[in-house]
This record gives sequence, structure tokens and C-alpha cells, in this order.
Amino acid sequence: VASSLPVRRIAVLAFLLLVLPALCLAAAPRNVVIFIGDGMGIGQVTAARCAASAAGQRLVLDSMPFTGLVATHPSDRLVTDSAAAGTALATGHKTVNGAISMLPDGSKLRTIFEAVEPMGKSTGIVTTDYVTGATPAVFVSHVPNRGQETEIAAQMIAGGTEVILGGGRSKFASKSAGGVRDDGRDLIREAADKGCEVITTQEGLAGARGPRVLGLFADGLVKADSKVPSLAEMTAKAIELLAGDKDGYVLMVEQALTDKFGHANDAGGVVEAVLALDEALKVALSVGKSDGSLLVIVTSDHETGGMCVKDADEKNPVFGSAWTGGSHTANMVAVYAFGPGAERFTGTHDNTDIPRIILELLGVK
Ligand SMILES: [Zn+2]
Repeated sequence: VASSLPVRRIAVLAFLLLVLPALCLAAAPRNVVIFIGDGMGIGQVTAARCAASAAGQRLVLDSMPFTGLVATHPSDRLVTDSAAAGTALATGHKTVNGAISMLPDGSKLRTIFEAVEPMGKSTGIVTTDYVTGATPAVFVSHVPNRGQETEIAAQMIAGGTEVILGGGRSKFASKSAGGVRDDGRDLIREAADKGCEVITTQEGLAGARGPRVLGLFADGLVKADSKVPSLAEMTAKAIELLAGDKDGYVLMVEQALTDKFGHANDAGGVVEAVLALDEALKVALSVGKSDGSLLVIVTSDHETGGMCVKDADEKNPVFGSAWTGGSHTANMVAVYAFGPGAERFTGTHDNTDIPRIILELLGVK
């Protein structure tokens, strides 16, 4: 009995020295998918849960193992826009409303895409918005004002992001070709000349081979209908294309319509948009469950409309809603996480913490 004690001690020591560090190492993701529900506050998620529950279903979002809360304010006030909040989520720095990954003094902020590209990782954006909209733009461009969408488009074509899928074709085409550019450039042809696969249809998306793909499925927003790919279809294809990179990838998936319907105080539209994000999340989680090295984050840039969910009544048989207005609010939003390192997202965070934790988990200085 006496002689077994040192043996046990050695075993404990060996466990501490060998197994624990291995467990810690195993908690490092190689791939990251960040979902941003634009304007998706707790009220919006609650409304979608009511609708799902009435249909006998459960939100995929509710299966995420770790959750936290996120403050969304920009650098100089309480209520943010998507540019400042997106900049915080993409760079880990606060800025003023309107700025795209830039400080008010004009200095550029390094985005997480720019931070992981030197590691050999591929990057991608998927959105139902114009791809030049504020939320996707903060990951791939730097301009002082979010309205400079034709410049954002030019920076996207010049940049290193492999997969770009969404709407906003008009920002890439010249006026003579039905677009809005007045500099005479045809960025769609320029992208194709650089070896980028340019696609505009659902069939084109299904057949895309990569590695570089620019998919522009609408002149404006990618609204859910049978002629355009769904958010889930775009997400599935983006992951398939990016997963070809053995060094890993970082993908941002935005549901912009939660915000658009929030501004319009349209509860049915909000529910439809959250459920579409939930379908796309299901795709990422099923990849994550078999892959083991994928960190999946879901958060929001801010809340829109001050949406509250009320009891059902005769007019609203599933749930009722009330709104404080048509603008963004300073309400905190949720963050959900799954995969290696997901536990780091529990607790209360500032929005700038999210990319900092991601980069730390990826081993980026
Ligand atoms: Zn908005």
C-alpha cells in the first residue's frame, strides 16, 4: 500500500504535465464562423422562438452550449449604427458611427480577416445585404464613411477575401451597365480578369468551384424568394469552398433583414429573418459537430426598434409585439458560442472583446 503512493503521485503529475496541456491545445479552433444578426436583440429572438414553438419546433440557436451578453455602444455615444458596431466586432476597437474599420483620425484598424490572412487562412463573407453594406464592409475594407460603397466594392476586389456572397451588384457595375458607378469601372469584369469566379444565380452558386468566388445575386438586398439562394445555401457553399484551405478559414455570415424589418416594426418579417439565420446556423453546427475544430459564434451588432414580445391576442394568435420606435437602441445583445474555446464567450462583454477572444483562440498576436 505504502509503495503505491508515489506511483499514484507520479500518475497525477504525469496527467498534469501531459494530458492537461493536450486538453488545452485541443480547445483551439482552426476555423471560425461568426454569424451577425443585424438588429437582432433578445426580443427578436424571443419572437422567433414563439413562432418556432407554435410550429412544434425549437430554435437551433437555443441549442448553443455557451451564451453571454454584449454591450454595443460606439466610442462617443450610447446608440450605435452597424458601421461602428461592425468595426468593433471586426477589429476589437470602438469608433464613431459611420466609420468602416477606421478611427475618426483616419487611421485604419486591422480586421480579423487581415490578422489571419498571414497564417494562410482563407476568409469569406456571406450576407443578405449589399456586400458593400456596413456589416460585411468592416471585415474587408477601410473608409471613413459607410456611404462610400463604390469605394468599398473596389477595395473588396483588390483585397484577399476569397469568398464574397450577397447582394449589391449595382455597386460593382458602371452606369452604362445598369449599375451606379460613375468612375467607368466594371468591377465584375475586373474580378473575373483576376481569376475570380463571378456568379449571379442559384445554379451558378451550386456549381462554383473556387477558390475565389464573387457571388452577387441581386442589385440590392437578397430577399428570400425562389430566385435567389437562401442564407443557409450561401453559408453551406461558403463553408464548402473555404474548407478546401488546410490552414483553416474565418467566415462572417450576416442576416441583414432582421434590421430592415426591425426599422419597419414588422414582427412577421423579423421572425422570418431570424428563422433564416437559424437555418444557416444549423448548417454551420452540423459541420462543426463532425469537424471538431470549428468555432461558431452568433451575435448581433445592436438591437433595432426596441422590440418587446407580448401575450397573444385575437389579432396576433401566436404572440403580440410592441416597439419603442424605428431606430436602433442601446440594449445589450446576446452572444452564443459552440466549439473549441466556446466557453470563453460566457459572461458580459464589450463588443470589442469578441474579435479579441477569437484572435487569442486562433493564436494571433
Ligand atoms: Zn439599422
